[in-house]
Formats: sequence, C-alpha cells, structure tokens
Amino acid sequence: MLTDTRGRPLRDLRISITDRCNFRCTYCMPKSVFDRDYQFLPRAELLTFEEIDRVTGLFAQLGVQKLRVTGGEPLLRRGVEDLIGRLSAIEGIDDLALTTNGSLLARKAEGLAAAGLKRATVSLDAVDEETFARMNDVGFDLKTVLEGIEAAAAAGLKPVKINAVVQRGVNDNTIVDLAGHFRNTGHIVRFIEFMDVGNANGWRLNDVVSAREIHDAINDSWPLEPAEPTHRGEVASRYRYVDGGGEIGIISSVTAPFCGDCTRLRLSAEGKLYTCLFAHEGFDLRAMLRGGSADLEIIEALEALWRARADRYSEIRSEVTVALPKVEMSYIGG
Ligand code: SAM
Ligand code: SF4
Ligand code: SF4
Repeated sequence: MLTDTRGRPLRDLRISITDRCNFRCTYCMPKSVFDRDYQFLPRAELLTFEEIDRVTGLFAQLGVQKLRVTGGEPLLRRGVEDLIGRLSAIEGIDDLALTTNGSLLARKAEGLAAAGLKRATVSLDAVDEETFARMNDVGFDLKTVLEGIEAAAAAGLKPVKINAVVQRGVNDNTIVDLAGHFRNTGHIVRFIEFMDVGNANGWRLNDVVSAREIHDAINDSWPLEPAEPTHRGEVASRYRYVDGGGEIGIISSVTAPFCGDCTRLRLSAEGKLYTCLFAHEGFDLRAMLRGGSADLEIIEALEALWRARADRYSEIRSEVTVALPKVEMSYIGG
C-alpha cells in the first residue's frame, strides 16, 4: 500500500474545478483582495474534464476511493454534470461528493444526482438573514440556499451536510439557532473552527471559537452525546442529540488537529497537487499531462510525491507559520 512518511495512506482526492465564486465570504475571499482587478485563472489554464478524468483514474489505481468536487464555487463551471458523470464511472471510486455554497443547487441538484453524484455538502454559516448576507458579503439571500438544501435531499444526495465556519463576534451568537433549524431534518450541521488558510482573511487566534465552546453552547440547549467515527480519517467529531433529534459534527482543525489521520490530496483547478491545505508550493501535474507523459510516468511521479509527504501543519501551527505564504482556500478548495 502507498503510504507517506508518517504511514498515512492516500484515500481522498479533492478536486477544485474553478477558482471563481459568486460569493465573497469574508473569511475566504475578502473583497479587499478579491476585487474587480483580481486575476482569476484564464480558461485555458484550467484542467479540462478529460484531463481531470484521466488523472483521477490514475489516482484510483493508487488507492483513492473518495472524491470531492469543490472550488471556488464548483457549480459555476459549465458542464459540471458531465464531469460528475465521468468521475462516477471510474472503477474503485466508492464515494463522490460535492461542496457548494448552495446558490445554484436548487436548479442543479437533480441533474447532478442523475449524473452520479452521491452526496452534497452545502456551506451555510447562519440561518439569520442578516448574518448570512453579511458573511457572504454579496447580500445573497438565505431562502435560495435553503431551497438548494431541500432540493439536494429530494434528489437523494443524502445526508446533506451543512458546513458552518464559526467566527467570534461574527456568527458565534447564531450557532444554536443554526443547529436548531436543522434538528429533526436528517441534515447534519458541521461546525468548523475558523482556519488560517491563505493569507487574505486576516486570521487571528482570538477569532477562533473552539470546538469545546461550540459543543457546550449547543449542549446547553439540547444535550449531546459522542457518536463513533464512521471511518478512519473522518475530520469531524460526531455528536448525537440525546433526544433523538439527529447529529452534528464539530471540526476542530485548530484546537485539536487531526494531521495524523490526514489521507487527503488536493488538486487545484489549474492542475497543481497539494499534499496539505496549508501548503505554498504545488506539484505541477498539468505540465506532465500536457507534456505528453505516459500513464506509468505520471503514476510514478504521484507515488513519489505521496511517499515524500511529511505535512502536519495544524500540529505545528504558531505565530510564525501563520505568517508564511500559503495558497488561498478559494484556489485549493478546502
Ligand atoms: N464555494 C464552495 C463552498 O463554499 O462550499 C466550495 C469551496 S469553499 C473554499 C470550501 C469550504 O471551505 C467551505 O465550506 C468554506 O466554508 C470553507 N472555508 C473557507 N475558508 C475557510 C476558513 N478560513 N476556515 C475554515 N473553513 C473555511
Ligand atoms: Fe466562495 Fe465558498 Fe469561499 Fe464562500 S467559502 S467565498 S462560497 S469559495
Ligand atoms: Fe492534513 Fe495539512 Fe490539514 Fe494536517 S494541516 S490535517 S496535514 S491538510
């Protein structure tokens, strides 16, 4: 089995298919940086669906079983259903999910499910209109995203996971409402500690609301009990409502890092591979694809990349690492 320097196998591939987005979430694409003059990747630099299909097939041969399509906003990329169809046909892939801001999901859920998508994760940081509009920073309305979530469930993309980034002084006062809104619906809200991804979002440790604080706030309203992880490498700690109202997840990337179990590799929209979310340099896979490399050569390069992997950023996070150059979340895809 292919493992890295810390014994971690390669299991998950996250594929970013665009660096563009119709939201400007303040913790991800702040308008001060991602403004009108911001240079997004030109179309010719994006991997084509054929290229993504080819490399994913090679990754499957190396042990990848789970795929997640992300971005930027992946549903902005034209023909995304075509890509989903191709990926779902790859042998060895047993899970195919997509992360989206939900803005286009009401329209697209059915087509995505028909193409072979299995699950959807929708990012939604608050069910309070005003807080949500302030956080997406383009005034996008909550109702459309809620409709998207229901459309995903109706299309069978279940359970729908709802990702909420918690920031102190921004939406920490609304997390209990968010949890309450989705109790007894079968959807699973996952609260995520605000992370120092990239260099644009002005991250400060003081802005992080810890997993413990999140747990305690919800537990005070509806008592929780721990639930077992469903698989190795699961990033969220799972909790069940004692009264049977369903479950939530809490992702403690900052206060209790889980690098020891990190089996994820990330492919950017322009075909660079990153062995860690907090990396600076990526491996230029597109150069091999477009330079005429044979499958075997590519496989050997991928094996060498994973074997040499030593990443454990979240375990060694400090004031020094926070200031290091890192790729942006909207580029790498989360
Ligand atoms: N646009 C899609 C969406 O928002 O779901 C997919 C890409 S987005 C970069 C993927 C995930 O990263 C989202 O759930 C988002 O909330 C999360 N994210 C972005 N910046 C983050 C940060 N600084 N800390 C924690 N999570 C972050
Ligand atoms: Fe766009 Fe997703 Fe980043 Fe928000 S989190 S700005 S929706 S890429
Ligand atoms: Fe994986 Fe890097 Fe996150 Fe650690 S910091 S869990 S190695 S992506």
